[in-house]
Amino acid sequence: MTRIQLTDGGPTFSRLVAGVWRLREWGMDSRALLDFIHGCLDLGVTTFDNADIYGGYTCEALFGAALAAEPSLRGRIELVTKCGIQLVSDNRPANRVHHYDTGRDHLVAAAENSLRQLHTDTLDLLLIHRPDPLMDADEVAEAFGALRAAGKVRHFGVSNFMPWQFHLLQSRLDFPLVTNQIELSVLHLDPLHDGTLDQAQRLRTPPMAWSPLAGGRLFDPWDERAARVRAALEAVGQEVGGAGADQVALAWLLRHPARILPVLGTGKLERVRAAAAAEAIALDRQQWFTIWEASAGREVP
Ligand code: NAP
Repeated sequence: MTRIQLTDGGPTFSRLVAGVWRLREWGMDSRALLDFIHGCLDLGVTTFDNADIYGGYTCEALFGAALAAEPSLRGRIELVTKCGIQLVSDNRPANRVHHYDTGRDHLVAAAENSLRQLHTDTLDLLLIHRPDPLMDADEVAEAFGALRAAGKVRHFGVSNFMPWQFHLLQSRLDFPLVTNQIELSVLHLDPLHDGTLDQAQRLRTPPMAWSPLAGGRLFDPWDERAARVRAALEAVGQEVGGAGADQVALAWLLRHPARILPVLGTGKLERVRAAAAAEAIALDRQQWFTIWEASAGREVP
């Protein structure tokens, strides 16, 4: 599998990333999770995407237990996690309302907690999970600087930021934000047209795409738009030698010049294997636009 460096001097990640948002739903014990991680590594998927809030603040610990059971794995994988969202949860009794906190103290404490949960002493990448209307960019820069100087976090980025929010935070940092992790798929076209991918390309900062299969909605038999897009994906799949709709949907993302890294959400190794094969599918422009048209429900102007 191709590896991609996120900006000059940034981390190098596998082109496909394994996301563990749904880890608790997978119901895996530590052994099954280790098998899944090893299976990903065998396919060249070495980067794992987490967040403090996943599974109601439980997924990092589940993943960390697997790392603790096999410590040599840590050197073979890249760990991404996120912070800044505060959920109302039994695991956070002080939270009275769902909110964001990008204050210095919270970011440092959240990152340190992620290190403990994940049984590691350094994170490869820490992302601000959502843009915070109260974000003080100077404070975020202070937190990032402290975590970086202490060797607790190697690289920093953001998630779900609009270009101007990315620009604001970057203006306070003397090192590059290495990615913006955004929602992007054949059923979510906004970043193609709202400046997000233009900024990523201008800065040579490859974006990570979450829900690259629209969170499974692509396969919903009752969703009319999804059915239309699936039909287009299947037709293109036939043209490229019998690829599945999931593979063509990923190849459609990989075709973009911003060098997108899809963050897969499956817990099934055979689906990761199919996804890995999507790298070999080269869509031409007319195939790419056929899929865009099926999603948008109209031709390009
Ligand atoms: P996704 O890959 O678009 O969706 C995964 C869902 O689709 C799973 O329920 C999976 O079920 C199903 N699926 C996958 N392939 C399928 C197929 N061929 N046929 C039928 N169903 C299929 O990704 P996602 O889980 O929504 O998100 C991926 C990752 O992005 C998350 O794990 C997380 O790391 C990250 N994320 C980030 C943010 C953010 O704000 N930054 C937000 C959401 C997610 P199975 O498990 O049964 O395969």
